[in-house]
Amino acid sequence: MRAKRSKKYRKLMHQYELTFGFREPYQVLVDSNFLRAIHQFKMDLIPSLERTLKGKVKPLLSKCSLAAIMAAQPKNPKTNNPIRPEHLPPPTTLPLRHCSHNEEDTPIDEAECLLSLLCPNKETMRNKEHYILATADPPSAEVLAQNPQVLGQNGELSNPKKRKRAEILHQELSRKASALRAGARSIPGVPIIYVKRSVMILEPMSTPSEQVRLGVEESKFKAGIETALSVVGKRKRDENDEGPKPRRAKKAKGPNPLSVKKPKKREKQRPEDQGKKNKKSSENSEQGTSNGPGAEGEATVKTKRKRRHKSSKAAGDKAGGENNNSETVGAEPAASDSKENAAD
Ligand SMILES: [Zn+2]
Repeated sequence: MRAKRSKKYRKLMHQYELTFGFREPYQVLVDSNFLRAIHQFKMDLIPSLERTLKGKVKPLLSKCSLAAIMAAQPKNPKTNNPIRPEHLPPPTTLPLRHCSHNEEDTPIDEAECLLSLLCPNKETMRNKEHYILATADPPSAEVLAQNPQVLGQNGELSNPKKRKRAEILHQELSRKASALRAGARSIPGVPIIYVKRSVMILEPMSTPSEQVRLGVEESKFKAGIETALSVVGKRKRDENDEGPKPRRAKKAKGPNPLSVKKPKKREKQRPEDQGKKNKKSSENSEQGTSNGPGAEGEATVKTKRKRRHKSSKAAGDKAGGENNNSETVGAEPAASDSKENAAD
């Protein structure tokens, strides 16, 4: 039975490592109930935790847990300070985890403090620091009857009253303890240890943790299939390689043709020209015929250019080998001008 549980816990911690990134030494947040319970059952803090978690541990005590422990202690009449309880290990074994929940730095409710450490951001719901929660049920009403919180300042309560107060306190502490565990279960990736009748138990993964684990497994499975396909089916890979090539060709086809660029420039020029023309046309719209001469002017320019071209070609033909000389080049426009003048 023991060997079976040991194997189960090892597997469970392995799953926490794979899914949530837990690493040794495991940080264990221990609460006041846990410390009292392991002391009651004569368990040693670190060895018992390491036996349960199958690895090195680093136990931590939050400042608010320490405050809760000290609040339940009777006070030294001489110093008026609470007596350090036997179940509180020295700071060398159990260091304090500093937590500041408010500006005054005053301790808050222990369960609230622990949940805020386990889940600093309620929106992301992540156990960022990879804490493990170690808790236990609160002491019984009989034990609580000896508690200074029950006994009152002078411990002068009569027996029936004491019992009733102890019962009420026990119910409240039980409610808080179960709320703490329920809260810890709602955060994915929080391993929970609790002490039950001298046995330290590592809870199975909570439903939210299990859902994350299954999600991770599923994605790993898919990734595994994809890599397997890519390795085994190289033909498929080739097809995939061929796939993007036509796409690239298609993409290249778009901007490539030179004819595309020129219209773009014309289009860009046109709106400006049109704008100017529109202004001009709007200015001269009453005259009506104003567009006519402009169009004619453009036409004449075009014809002039054409004539220049023809004339230059003709000049080139006429000039023959003398094309390289600057004089002939200078002479060409003159000739074309004269021809244009003649044409006009
Ligand atoms: Zn705190």
